[in-house]
Amino acid sequence: MTNTVPFPQLEIPQTIAAGPGPGNTDARVLSRFAGAGLADHMHPDVLRGMVECKEMLREVMGTKNTYTFGVAGTGWSGLDMMFSAVMPGDKVVMFVNGTFSGIDGLTVRMRAATAEELAANPLDPKPASVVIVDVPHGTSVTEEIVEAALAEHKPKWAAMAHWETGSGRVNDIEGFSKACERHGAMGLVDAVSSLGVGDFKIDDYAGVHGWASCPQKGICCLPLTYAPVSFSDTYIEALMATGTRTFCHHPILEARHWGIIDGKDVEKGTYHRTHSAYAVAAFHEALRICLQQTVAQRASDYIFHEGALRAAVEAMGCEVTSNMPSLVVLNLPGALAGREMELVQHCRAQNFGIWPTLSEPVQVRIGILNLLNEATITDIVTRFCAALRELGGEFDQEAVDTALRGHYGAAMAAE
Ligand SMILES: *Cc1c(COP(=O)(O)O)cnc(C)c1O
Repeated sequence: MTNTVPFPQLEIPQTIAAGPGPGNTDARVLSRFAGAGLADHMHPDVLRGMVECKEMLREVMGTKNTYTFGVAGTGWSGLDMMFSAVMPGDKVVMFVNGTFSGIDGLTVRMRAATAEELAANPLDPKPASVVIVDVPHGTSVTEEIVEAALAEHKPKWAAMAHWETGSGRVNDIEGFSKACERHGAMGLVDAVSSLGVGDFKIDDYAGVHGWASCPQKGICCLPLTYAPVSFSDTYIEALMATGTRTFCHHPILEARHWGIIDGKDVEKGTYHRTHSAYAVAAFHEALRICLQQTVAQRASDYIFHEGALRAAVEAMGCEVTSNMPSLVVLNLPGALAGREMELVQHCRAQNFGIWPTLSEPVQVRIGILNLLNEATITDIVTRFCAALRELGGEFDQEAVDTALRGHYGAAMAAE
């Protein structure tokens, strides 16, 4: 006899995930996820898979850092580990130019707060040792901004998002790194949105000592797998000097399961937590795809297709304020201003998953993670055109078609 369950099986539709993330997961990744056998977390092939993932990740991130591996969970899991070395009373300067760096700032404030400061405002502490530098929405963190703040405050740590997904802005990582070096601050970078989308090597930025990314954006591995992280020896030494109050997200302890012990690669890992053979197999395949396609090729594909989407929405009269290759953040044409939420909800009701900004001002965000071909971009443009029109918007369809055709036609002619 079986019981009657109050709910039927959960059906989730296929949508066009045209937002800032998650990105579409490759069928090859899903097939490895579903195709893995149940093997426990100390099975030789699972441990070998983790060691291979670690090696591929070093290649994808462009680093020789031994402490490079994945943190089980989402972007915030990797970021939580990265910020674990920030201790109560530590001096930190955090640059905030949107929703996500804003949340990173909250993490930093929680970490750096003394017990008294945390108790005074448990959910939103304001420690004296943390300086939050607010950079206006829609603009980037520049070398001048970082230089001025670090020169004034001389912090132990400096942190920012590489690409701020809330406002769609690329921040100056080179300027940030140089300013950190000049002022002896250890840089910490939220690379959740940029890894696997932009063409960069983390070892080119000597002022940055901790990096954290996510599975679901540029790495295209949504089946909740691993948030890539990488730490320099300097970071690990700083952590060894202070310790940190976490077992689960301890950079040195978690690294052991990935075969990194006492700063060295070993043949196989030792237990830290129960890793899933399914997750390891999926993450492994996502990294293989990334290396097969190459980071450089992916980066140039993003730039190319973002250009097409940008040209099309500008032809509709929208104003684009972002400069990120995986995301277009825009203001609607004047006549539709103020109706952003309505438009986004209208699109989402048709399984066309675009997003508003999550903090003021309200803007529309359309993303192209792993949607890198002419047919898909054209479909996104067509749906967006229809939605604008359904809300009463008026624009010259001919101009939109010409913009798209111009972009893709010109590329074909050049080949
Ligand atoms: C998406 C995002 C996050 C949060 O990642 P989750 O996978 O939702 O935990 C953090 N920072 C940035 C810059 C992001 O784009």
